[in-house]
Amino acid sequence: METMKAYIKEAEKALLHTYNRYQVVLDKGDGVYLYDIEGKKYLDFCAGIAVFALGYNNKSYNDALKAQIDKVIHTSNYYYNVPAIEAAKKIKEVSGLDRVFFTNSGAEAVEGAIKAARKYAYLKDSCTDHEIIAMEHSFHGRTMGALSVTGNPKYREAFEPMIGHIRFARLNDFDSVLANVTEKTCAIILETVQGEGGIIPAREDFLRQVKALCEEKDILLILDEIQCGMGRTGEMFAWQRYGVKPDIMTCAKALGCGVPVGAFVLTERVGAASLTSGDHGTTYGGNPLAAAAVNIVLDLFEQNHIIDNVKETGAYLEEKLESLAAEFDCITERRGLGLMQGLVFESPVNNVINAALEKGLILINAGANIIRFIPPLVIGKENVDEMTQILRECLLELQ
Ligand SMILES: *Cc1c(COP(=O)(O)O)cnc(C)c1O
Repeated sequence: METMKAYIKEAEKALLHTYNRYQVVLDKGDGVYLYDIEGKKYLDFCAGIAVFALGYNNKSYNDALKAQIDKVIHTSNYYYNVPAIEAAKKIKEVSGLDRVFFTNSGAEAVEGAIKAARKYAYLKDSCTDHEIIAMEHSFHGRTMGALSVTGNPKYREAFEPMIGHIRFARLNDFDSVLANVTEKTCAIILETVQGEGGIIPAREDFLRQVKALCEEKDILLILDEIQCGMGRTGEMFAWQRYGVKPDIMTCAKALGCGVPVGAFVLTERVGAASLTSGDHGTTYGGNPLAAAAVNIVLDLFEQNHIIDNVKETGAYLEEKLESLAAEFDCITERRGLGLMQGLVFESPVNNVINAALEKGLILINAGANIIRFIPPLVIGKENVDEMTQILRECLLELQ
């Protein structure tokens, strides 16, 4: 225990105190398991917050990155590079969208989407007072623009003023969206499945109504697929389940499976009438290493039939979580899609998560009362069984 305690003490002296971290120092990973520096093994149902879809220490993924490192890691966006061209083509294929801008993170993808929407509206009327409608309980990132559309007043308060002209509506309440629409509305942004806000899928009828409204009024629909995209719900992107295509989509987290990369992706129509040369840029975005990660991730998704596994194992996970919800009175609801699931508890879940960690199971919350299940997308039914067994033991002990 000494080494881990010692490292944690050092960390608390050197790192800024922006996280209440679990008292574990992680060292390496293999498949769906992580190991701390003392060799203790953990079944991982967090995947680095929905990032490591392919499982740890995947040989093809590691080899592709090593090969790219030996060629060139970075060139800047003043020049073309083959991995970025290939990666953009693949994203177009799997999304049916047309234009890709690579970023280094999710928040930056949201920033880009906001800028694209504002520029699109500006080109129509030369005004700079356009409004964006976002959702309560949403999460879009921590930079100022992304924070401005994040529907959690606690995250925003100390950092006011936000960027202006943002209104908040309620997810799955179309009337609340309508009540916020004005002739200045240029975009509506929402997560197809809210993640941090508590694993809440947008309903199909709601999405269809929002889409129809956007088409009628030439408002851009921005779908944030940073957490729910990349196969997590059993479709490559969650909106594909409903056939409601966004004008702009944001993507990150599992897009690079650990190498920091995001993207905002636009239709040709919006791409051609929004950001143009000089309007936006990034030093690192889509550099050869990041783009090599996107390429190998999308290749392996196809080769390894990742989405089929999500459909099958996701259904099994849902079944197991339903049976826990039926067994324990402290659980009030199961919700979610595919391998993006939540169990809603009557009271805060910290103690459950800590007990699970003690027993070698990594879980995270999504809001105080909700346990979130976002494992690597390669998990099997036996891993679901192992998770369920540990979680059940914890719940019995805590009763
Ligand atoms: C994580 C997340 C973000 C922010 O991504 P970062 O890479 O942390 O900046 C934005 N939107 C959603 C839905 C997310 O889950």
